[in-house]
Parts: sequence; C-alpha cells; structure tokens
Amino acid sequence: MSEIYDVAIIGSGPAGFTAGLYASRANLNVILFEGSQPGGQLTITTEVENFPGFEHGVQGPEMMDIFRRQATRFGCKNVYETITKVDFSNRPFTLTNESGKEYSARSVIIATGATARTLKIPSEATYWGFGISACATCDGFFYKNKKVFVVGGGDTAMEEANYLTHFASSVTLLHRRQEFRASKIMIDRAKENPKIDFVLDSVIDEFMGEEKNGIKSLTAIKVRNVQTNESKIMPADGVFIAIGHDPNTQLFKGLLDMDDENYLITKGKSTYTNIPGVFACGDVQDHVYRQAISAAGSGCMAAIDAERWLQDN
Ligand code: NDP
Repeated sequence: MSEIYDVAIIGSGPAGFTAGLYASRANLNVILFEGSQPGGQLTITTEVENFPGFEHGVQGPEMMDIFRRQATRFGCKNVYETITKVDFSNRPFTLTNESGKEYSARSVIIATGATARTLKIPSEATYWGFGISACATCDGFFYKNKKVFVVGGGDTAMEEANYLTHFASSVTLLHRRQEFRASKIMIDRAKENPKIDFVLDSVIDEFMGEEKNGIKSLTAIKVRNVQTNESKIMPADGVFIAIGHDPNTQLFKGLLDMDDENYLITKGKSTYTNIPGVFACGDVQDHVYRQAISAAGSGCMAAIDAERWLQDN
C-alpha cells in the first residue's frame, strides 16, 4: 500500500515552506510539492531587504534556499514535481503529479501563490529584476532619486505610484486608457501628488537598457500613444508593473470556494477552506498584503490548523 502523508503541501514560496517547517516540527509526515517555479515569486526578485532577521538583506533565491533547507532539516520531504490534479471527494485525499503518479494525504495545505501579470513583450524578461518589478514595497527603496514609471490604472498602480514618491525623483503613471479603474480617493491622492505625472492612452512597446560589467540595467522605454500611434523613447530607471495578479487556483476550480477574482476563501481568521482538512495560506488567499512575511505567517497558521484538525479527526 502506498504511503499516506499526514500533510501534503502544494507550493514552495514562503507560505509553503513555513507550513512545511511547522508541520514537520510537529512530528507530522509531510510532503511538499515545489511546483513549476521552485521557491516561488521571490526567486525572480533580486535583493530582499524587508524580511525580518536578514539585517543586511538577502537575495530572493538565496532566501528561498534557506527556507527550503530549514523545512527539510526537520523531515519535510520536498519533491520537484507539479501537482496537476486533486481529488478531495474521498479520504485520504489524492494528489496527482504531471506524470500521473498519485499521492495520498490526510490533509492538504494549498500555498500555490499568485502570479503578477506581465506585459508579455519580449524585452520585459530581459530586464525583469534589473529595473522592472511588480512590487514597489519590495523594490522602491532601490530607486532613490531615480526616474520611475508605474504601469496600470487600478488601485495598486495608484498606491504604488504614491509610495514610490517617497524615494524616486519623479514618478510617471502610464496607463493604456484615459479612464482609471481605481477608486476616486486613490486617483485624487495620486493627482494631488506633485511628484506624479500621467501618460495616458499609452503602452510600452519595448524596454531598453545597457549591460556594464555583466550587470544589466534599464535605461529607457519605448512608449506608444494608442490614439495617435506615435512612439517616443522615454528615459526610465525603473518600471513597476501594476496590472494585477492572478491567483494560482486553476487546479481548484469547482472544488474550493473562491471570490470574484478567483482567490481561495478562508474562514474567518483561520486558514480553513470549505473542505475540512484542506487549508490555504499565502498569496493564493490574500490579495491585500502579498508580502513574503505575511505569507510566511499564514503558512505557520495553516500548519497549526492542520495539526489540530488531524488531532481532532
Ligand atoms: P485591477 O485589475 O483593478 O487593475 C489592473 C489595471 O491594469 C487596470 O487599470 C488595467 O487596465 C491595467 N491592465 C491590465 N492588463 C494590462 C495590460 N496587459 N497592459 C496594460 N495595462 C493593463 O488590479 P489592481 O492590482 O490594481 O487591484 C486588484 C484589486 O485589489 C482591486 O479590487 C483593487 O481595488 C484592490 N486593491 C485595493 C487597494 C486599496 O484599497 N488600498 C490597493 C490595491 C489594490 P484597464 O482599466 O484598461 O482594464
């Protein structure tokens, strides 16, 4: 008979590994599926300076390696596989990987995170992490006295633009339409901020930069007005893409309760989903804070919830 795990964790960002650490330290038999992006979103950032405990900052990929080693040290078994199917209708639950292998688990912690939407133009990947970011709270500090752009017209774009004025010499909000999707109060706040200017009806067609001593950096963007079709090159040290996030919940459609934006719904202040024994933590259930530290905190909560639930059942 195949092994039945006490806890199966899907996802390997701060939430997943923290859940793995806590669950394995609680002496549970834990397996963690790393998924298609081992280490999660932090592996595509550079320096992380706002995770407590790393006084002098740490590179995102290195931090996730530390998370991984800390969890596996206590017996959390991490496998570099992607779960492509889940069956929560029978107990123990069944998880199936990309090659059809099945795993059984008494409880499941979902920590599949969210993915920042990108512009999907070829040069974007080249400068991602070297001038392009999707998180002003994480990376704004690196743009002291620099010229930055924020792309998007929603609340996140307004909020990020305002936040970036604490550091940058100028912030340009670039949006593809004239009208904003953001709430009035957020728009007013951005409009009243003398450091923010607006480029509307416009899109970025290309990111441009240079490479010195093997280090890439963004220097300009090619911006096209969608009404006139005229293009111009604008100097830019940083571009923050704020066009929304998509939670990685495709796998759970029709199985777990989700909100209008497909984030998993957890009950009250817990990590319980609508199926007893299935828990969710991190960005997959949080579109408000979206920080590594808050994801890690909710990963800890999920492991404690799972441990107590297993004890009671
Ligand atoms: P939204 O989906 O609200 O806005 C995304 C914006 O990006 C839109 O303006 C959209 O343009 C634009 N966009 C989308 N795709 C592209 C693309 N390919 N190229 C260019 N532009 C694009 O996402 P947000 O992250 O702003 O907000 C998500 C949710 O979180 C919302 O409910 C928001 O209210 C909430 N939130 C609340 C905050 C607060 O209250 N403090 C702070 C931040 C977020 P278009 O309008 O043309 O579709």
